Amino acid sequence: MANGACDDGLPAAGPLHVAMLATPGMGHLIPLAELARRLASRYGATATLLTFASTASTTQRAFLASLPPGITSLRLPPVDLSDLPRSATIETRMRPPASWPSSPTSSARTDAARAAGVGRTYLFNPTNLHMLSLLLRLPELDATVPGEFRDLAEPVRLPGCVPIPGSDILSPLQDKGDPCYRWMLHHAARCREADAILVNSFDAVEPEAAAVLHRQQEPGRPPVYNVGPLILTETETKSSLRAACLEWLDRQPPRSVVFVSFGSGGALRTEQMRQLALGLELSGQRFLWVVRSPSDEGAVSDNYYDAESKEDPLVFLPEGFVERTKDVGFLVSSWAPQIEVLAHEATGGFLTHCGWNSTLESLVHGVPMVAWPLYAEQHQNAVMLAEGIGAAIRVPEPKRKETIAGAVKELMAGEQKGAAVRATVAELQKAALEGVGEGGAATTALAEVVDKWAT
Ligand code: UDP
Repeated sequence: MANGACDDGLPAAGPLHVAMLATPGMGHLIPLAELARRLASRYGATATLLTFASTASTTQRAFLASLPPGITSLRLPPVDLSDLPRSATIETRMRPPASWPSSPTSSARTDAARAAGVGRTYLFNPTNLHMLSLLLRLPELDATVPGEFRDLAEPVRLPGCVPIPGSDILSPLQDKGDPCYRWMLHHAARCREADAILVNSFDAVEPEAAAVLHRQQEPGRPPVYNVGPLILTETETKSSLRAACLEWLDRQPPRSVVFVSFGSGGALRTEQMRQLALGLELSGQRFLWVVRSPSDEGAVSDNYYDAESKEDPLVFLPEGFVERTKDVGFLVSSWAPQIEVLAHEATGGFLTHCGWNSTLESLVHGVPMVAWPLYAEQHQNAVMLAEGIGAAIRVPEPKRKETIAGAVKELMAGEQKGAAVRATVAELQKAALEGVGEGGAATTALAEVVDKWAT
């Protein structure tokens, strides 16, 4: 399950120390570390981030080393994953390392924390209220939905949520025969055992779900606190790659560039990558594309944990593409300084896989999105962003160069839908920034949680 558990381990009267167990992957570690940073700066707390040696990468090590002295980390010993079949999903691969100390998955953390004498356990959901609503209702859906979600004729309706077509429901729930489904179900039921659930979202982006989860107390459900958006606040711009890509942006007109990136591990199929290249070219827009080698086996590349393409990704682009687009496009292999790119005034749009960190980073910087979801809860996020709040335009199926070009052009320059999306994102940016400011909703929610720790 995509979350971490935080346990306050010291007597109420002592200084606050928080232990945080992070699910593998930078996308989970970053918001948890930001939560630690916020607790440290506002409340003088110290924190220990528990990570897994099996999934430690250079990026992760550098990130942990950059945290302030009060935020330390501990690596739990490696777990042998060699007995998992090659076809095991990324969620299944995450599950064994997330066992602490021995039983698999994340609710095992609650047991481990209790066994260690920690009184209270808080779940941190690094995604959003739509995802949490799904998890909270999953046992009920399991009992009532016949067959697979993707075969449902009607969308799944959850209280306060945008109706989600069955095929867009969280990808590890799409095959009830896969062990991953059973594990998700087991842990979804155990979410209710937490003392409270902290969520990396903010009310304005999913207002009706927030109304249901904050204002309606349901017996047996822990209180829910929206403490987001928590995004990376401190970045460094040292490498020449960072400099090159930002320098290129410096030479482009304001709001003229569409940034294209699929998160830390997203990979396209070879043909989709070709169509994307041709679509960007056809759109006539400037673009900055983080190109990663395609994968025809699945949407998550083997490099989820280290983000480095194993082969030169540029060789997979259509012939002549690099030359033809050299005046309007900039290609980066594997990894770009995303936050700085989104914060740059030349960036006017983001073609994204709708990973939740990327989504929040885009909203905080006021950048409207084209949605191209790949795996995990990204399809749900795309539905919520495109059909719910209206912060994104989803690339219509089938994804061909014409449909891709259409969505990109509409986002960047369209006077109807594009203009509406751009205006909505400007409003959401304001709400996001207000929320984390003094007296804002996220700041107040976190203060309520900390108050509980003091009692
Ligand atoms: N990221 C980045 N450069 C890249 C790709 C990703 O800095 O080239 C960062 C991005 O800013 C975000 C995280 O990696 O903080 C990706 O998290 P997200 O939840 O969007 O997607 P995931 O990687 O979990 O699929």
